[in-house]
Amino acid sequence: MGGGRKELEQAAREVAATLQTAGHEAYFAGGCVRDRLLGRRPDDYDIATSASPEAVQEVFPRAHGVGESFGVMLVHRRSCAIEVATFRKEGPYSDHRRPDHVSAASLEEDAARRDFTINGMYWDPVSETLVDLYGGEADLREGVIRAIGNPADRLQEDHLRMLRAVRFASRFEFVIHHDTESVIKGHRSRLEGISRERIGEEIRRMFLDRNRARAAMLLESLGLAAVVLDESQGHFAFGHLESLPQDLTKEEFGRILAAWALDRGGHEDSLARSRSWQNQMMLSNGDRDAMSEILDIYQCIGLDWSGSPVARQKRLAAREHFQAALSLVAVRDPACMHDVQGRVDELSQTELAPEPLLSGKELIQAGFQAGPRFSKVLEAVYDAQLECLIATKDEAVGMARDLWDQS
Ligand code: ATP
Ligand code: MG
Repeated sequence: MGGGRKELEQAAREVAATLQTAGHEAYFAGGCVRDRLLGRRPDDYDIATSASPEAVQEVFPRAHGVGESFGVMLVHRRSCAIEVATFRKEGPYSDHRRPDHVSAASLEEDAARRDFTINGMYWDPVSETLVDLYGGEADLREGVIRAIGNPADRLQEDHLRMLRAVRFASRFEFVIHHDTESVIKGHRSRLEGISRERIGEEIRRMFLDRNRARAAMLLESLGLAAVVLDESQGHFAFGHLESLPQDLTKEEFGRILAAWALDRGGHEDSLARSRSWQNQMMLSNGDRDAMSEILDIYQCIGLDWSGSPVARQKRLAAREHFQAALSLVAVRDPACMHDVQGRVDELSQTELAPEPLLSGKELIQAGFQAGPRFSKVLEAVYDAQLECLIATKDEAVGMARDLWDQS
């Protein structure tokens, strides 16, 4: 939010220092500490403090509470927004997703409620010291995702942590510690208790990352993919995901999902599968439609491209996600993709999707009655245009008359 990354860090330092000057403990906490140790620039800085929300407000009069989160205040500094969270401990998780209650606590208790050792560290930006109560630094060095405390208890409290483990393991190319891993394998079906929004958000963050193929592999090997997607176990081949450009924006999530679906295999019906995935992960309609389109075009290219008439090829090649689909075809059959691309280049010389010579409105003006035959005639006239069999409006009207009389 606002400012550059350096500016963001500077803002966070100042907020922590100001809290300390007012007599409170204040640290960078969680993900940003981990990222700094990894030499990555954090996307955001979270500050954990001993100050109550009221005390934070006293130090920063313009601070305000964040949503429903307990004790999280938003402080503005240098046009950046920094989240300042009061140390807290969590009561039992009787529903396996949210603590029954949370309350103010010490740093030790605040650390104990965090999920993994690498996410449980604190950095004091004033004295420049690290507080690492669970060996997070060593796990970062060795590349291990390990639950803080007893993995069975911690993963049962909040089943989403299973997916978070996969997300961090794939993003950083770490391994999941053996004990944490075996608990995941034993509990995977419990993911069913978590809201689909939260599952979908984790999957989105996992797959927008460049290590998405690794994430897919882990999800498959832990048996989580089948639960998330409500499908059977998928293949262990990730060529489609691997073929994608590394950096994709969130607008291209549908394309990623299509590649994942192809890697998993199974399912002929693109539309049904995309709808089911939408349900399972609360996808936006845009992501669902892109996924479905790409899978559909992919199938059409495989099934009947070479035998199709020009008009059909042009219609297919003009579809929005054609190039994305074609690049996935290349994974299965590079020669096919090469042929199709060559043909599309050729077809483009006479335009893939020209303005129609004849519109519905013009057809009515020419004296035709709107009705069931109407769109069939229009389509056939447009096909003839795509085939370069007609080139003028007069020819188009003439052809429409002939077709009308015949039908
Ligand atoms: P990212 O860089 O992907 O945002 P992050 O570590 O900052 O990673 P967040 O989801 O932003 O992850 O959470 C911030 C911190 O809050 C985590 O580092 C972790 O300490 C704690 N945390 C978040 N979600 C959970 C959870 N489900 N269970 C326990 N601790 C959590
Ligand atoms: Mg974060």
